[in-house]
Amino acid sequence: MALQQTCPCGSGATYDACCGRLHRGAALASSAEELMRSRYAAYAVGDTDYVFRTWHPRTRPDDLAPDPALIWTGLRIIGSGADWVEFVASYTRDGVAGSMHERSRFEQRGGRWVYVDGEVS
Ligand SMILES: [Zn+2]
Repeated sequence: MALQQTCPCGSGATYDACCGRLHRGAALASSAEELMRSRYAAYAVGDTDYVFRTWHPRTRPDDLAPDPALIWTGLRIIGSGADWVEFVASYTRDGVAGSMHERSRFEQRGGRWVYVDGEVS
């Protein structure tokens, strides 16, 4: 991902100034929504390590294998609170467009926001 490209999370900022600085460990997400955006962007750029380390150890899968046929194409935040975010993430899989609607829950752990789980609807 080129650093000066627009961030995949849809903020309008460059990747470098937005989720890129979280992915490379230069900054920590300051809210559940910022973490959620950065996790979406990590899926979009294929940064599986970031997805893994921002997942609560209690709920994260042992292995996170990205699906090579899946391309994330957009994120729309519907609502958010202190520890939850509801969003629609769009994708194409093998060229077929789809979307995922989820309400995710987050927790602060040792001063860092982590993803706990989500309800897909
Ligand atoms: Zn971003």
